[in-house]
Amino acid sequence: MINIAIDGPSGAGKSTIAKIVAKTLGITYLDTGAMYRAVALHMVNCGKNPSVADDVKPLLNDINISYIKNGGENLICLNGRDVSEDIRRHEMSKYASEVSKIPEVRLFLVDMQRKIAESNDVVLDGRDITSYVLPNAKYKFYLTAKDTERAKRRFEELQAKGQEVSYEQILADVRDRDFNDMNRDFAPLKKTDDSFEIDSTDMSLQQVVDTILAKIAEIDGKSNQINDEKSSEDKQTKNKRTKVKHRWFYRGLANFVRWVMGSIWVTKIYFKDNFPKNTKAIAICNHYSALDPCVIISKLLGKHGKVLMKDEVMNNSFIGNIARELGCIPVKRGEADINAVKSILGALNKNQPVLIFPEGTRNRQGTKEFLPFKQGVATFAIKAKAPIVPMLYYKKTGIFKRNKIMIGTPFWLDEFYGKKIADVREEATQVIFDKMQELRREIDILVEKCKGSKKRYLKYKKNQSKELYANVGDGRQK
Ligand code: C5P
Repeated sequence: MINIAIDGPSGAGKSTIAKIVAKTLGITYLDTGAMYRAVALHMVNCGKNPSVADDVKPLLNDINISYIKNGGENLICLNGRDVSEDIRRHEMSKYASEVSKIPEVRLFLVDMQRKIAESNDVVLDGRDITSYVLPNAKYKFYLTAKDTERAKRRFEELQAKGQEVSYEQILADVRDRDFNDMNRDFAPLKKTDDSFEIDSTDMSLQQVVDTILAKIAEIDGKSNQINDEKSSEDKQTKNKRTKVKHRWFYRGLANFVRWVMGSIWVTKIYFKDNFPKNTKAIAICNHYSALDPCVIISKLLGKHGKVLMKDEVMNNSFIGNIARELGCIPVKRGEADINAVKSILGALNKNQPVLIFPEGTRNRQGTKEFLPFKQGVATFAIKAKAPIVPMLYYKKTGIFKRNKIMIGTPFWLDEFYGKKIADVREEATQVIFDKMQELRREIDILVEKCKGSKKRYLKYKKNQSKELYANVGDGRQK
C-alpha cells in the first residue's frame, strides 16, 4: 500500500496540500485532525468537558466515525451524521487539542487510522503520523511555517467564512495549540529524523505540492535503483554494452530534434504553470501538424513524457528509434492495441505524463471545430485515476507562424472512479469534450478580445466576475 505521512503544526497548510497530493496521485486522503475534532464535538454535544479525561473516556465507545463520498470530497460523519462543517468551528480547534492529550482517545483513533492505512493507498496528515501511527511509512514529510504566517492564513480563512475572530486571538490560539501538541506526554508532535521538512512560509501552495511530489519521485527512483542493482549482473553488462552505443546516437538525435523544434517552431504557451510537474497526468490537445506533438513533448512533457504514435511510422527503424527516445509509444490504429494500453498505464503508474490526442488524428482541414472524440482518454484517466490537462492550439499551426497553445486547469474524472468503464466511457468522454469546448471559448477570448495578452485576459476575467457578482447582487461588489 502507498502510505504518505504528513505531520506539522496547525495552519501549516497540511490538509489543503495533502488533499491535492492525494487527488494528483489518485489515492485516498485521511484528515486525522478531523477525527480528533469529531471526538471533541461529541463531547460538547453530550455536555461534557473535552479536557476532563474521566468525562471523555466512558463516551468513546459511543462514537462511530465514518466517511461518505461527496463528489471528490470525503465527508466525515459522527454516528451517521455529516459533521464536516460543525467540526470546523473555531472553538473546536481548541477542544480537539484538549481531547488529543488523552491517551485513550489517541489509542482509539490511531487504531482506526492504522486499519485504514493497511488496506488503502492513502495520504494521512496529522501530528503523530510519521512518529507514532505509521513510523515505517515510505514517504514522510514535516510541513511547517512561521506561527505568524500560519495565524494569518487561518485568520483569512475564518474571515472568508464570516466568522468573527481577531488576528491576535488566532495567533495566541495557534501558539497555545503548538505548545499543547508538542509537549503532551503521549505521541507529541515532533519532526522525525527521516521526515523531509518543508517550510512553507514563503512558498505558494503549488510549490509545496510540487516539492512533495518531486520528493516522492526521488524516493521511488532510489528504490527502483536499488531493485535494479539487485538484478543479475550478467544480464546488465551484456545488454548494456550492445545497446548503449546505439542508444546514445539516437538519444543525441532526439535531443537535436527537441532543440530544433524548440527553436524554429515558435509556439507561445499560455498558463504553462497549469501543467503539473513530477506526476502522472494525461495531456490532451487538438493538433494540426505532425510536428505539433514534438513541440508539446519538448516544451512541456520533458524527458519522461510519453505520446502515442502510429506504428507504421515507427516501423522504420531509424525514425522509430528517434521517436522512441522522444517518448513515442507505437500504437496500431483502428484496433485495441493491448501493448500500447499497457505502456500508457505503465507510464502513468510510474508518475510520467502522457500526451493523447482525443480526436485520434490531426485536423487536416485546419478548422477550429473538433473532430469527434475517441474514448481512450476517458478509459486511461479513470483506470489510472490521473488528472487530465486540457490544452488547445488556437488555430492551424505552421513554421513561420506565431503558434499559440493555452493550457487549461487540470481536472479529474473522479465521479466515475470505481464504476464499470464500459458503462461510463461515453459520458466521461462527453465531460472531456465539454472541457475542451470551454477551453476553446477561453483561448478565443484570449487571442481575439485580449490580443494575446495574458495580462489583458486576466483583467478581462476579473471584470467579468465582478459583473457577475454585481448582477447576482450578493453584496460583495462595491
Ligand atoms: O489538524 P487539525 O487542526 O484539524 O487538528 C486538530 C487538533 O487535533 C490538533 O490541534 C491536534 O491537537 C489534534 N491532532 C492530534 N494528532 C493528529 C491530528 C490532530 O493530536 N494526528
